[in-house]
Amino acid sequence: MASRKPSVRHPSHNHPLRGQKALAEEETICSGCDLDLIGAAFKCTKSECEYFLHKSCFELPRETRHKSHPDHPLTLLYSPPYESSTYECSACSEYGSGFVYNCSICQFDLHVGCISMAESVEREGHEHPLTLLYCSPYTNGLIVKCDVCQETVPDHLWSYYCKECDYGTHLHSCEVEEEVEPKRGAGGGGGKASTSGNKGGGRGSAASELAAMLEAQREMERMQIELHMEMQRAKIAKKARKACLKLI
Ligand SMILES: [Zn+2]
Ligand SMILES: [Zn+2]
Ligand SMILES: [Zn+2]
Ligand SMILES: [Zn+2]
Ligand SMILES: [Zn+2]
Ligand SMILES: [Zn+2]
Repeated sequence: MASRKPSVRHPSHNHPLRGQKALAEEETICSGCDLDLIGAAFKCTKSECEYFLHKSCFELPRETRHKSHPDHPLTLLYSPPYESSTYECSACSEYGSGFVYNCSICQFDLHVGCISMAESVEREGHEHPLTLLYCSPYTNGLIVKCDVCQETVPDHLWSYYCKECDYGTHLHSCEVEEEVEPKRGAGGGGGKASTSGNKGGGRGSAASELAAMLEAQREMERMQIELHMEMQRAKIAKKARKACLKLI
């Protein structure tokens, strides 16, 4: 007994959960954010129950404020508050079926993944950092077009933008091909951007090699998450369409 980790409770689930490390090859999905479960996670202690949570999803605050919705606090709900059991994310317009940050006054809903998107990111293919915008950068009625996939970004959706170059992209990476090369301080996926830029001198030391390896690993995970998100989105959209058809 002494070697077993203690179980913990989370209000989203009836059974106790226990900490574990989730591996990519297990291909499990977080029951909170619907994304691939990798890294520190919690699993339901009941063997027959497939309930998993990222550690980060486990720790999400019950109430938060977000710049994109300054007038009201947002409440974390463990399932969508709508009859359809899905919601449309106000940031990316994709459907969601798990955890959601909701403003019940405005029917404003955010994916837990979207709410934690970094305010500034570096993206392959653009030399400047891109800034997260919560609406169109144009006030003159110009239409925002994603400079990566060339599709329109509707005015009310979030995007990443470089003012200097008038370069904009969808919130989520829509690039078909991405390089596996680790980026320094990219800070994507809501992680804290590291400021400890190695200035070459420390190269070759075991510590910096390890750091580089970890960074590469993190980049891989990020890409896998993004890839999975695409698949998941397609699935959720299909599910939502079915649910809608049933309502008609
Ligand atoms: Zn999660
Ligand atoms: Zn359970
Ligand atoms: Zn979203
Ligand atoms: Zn509101
Ligand atoms: Zn795009
Ligand atoms: Zn630029």
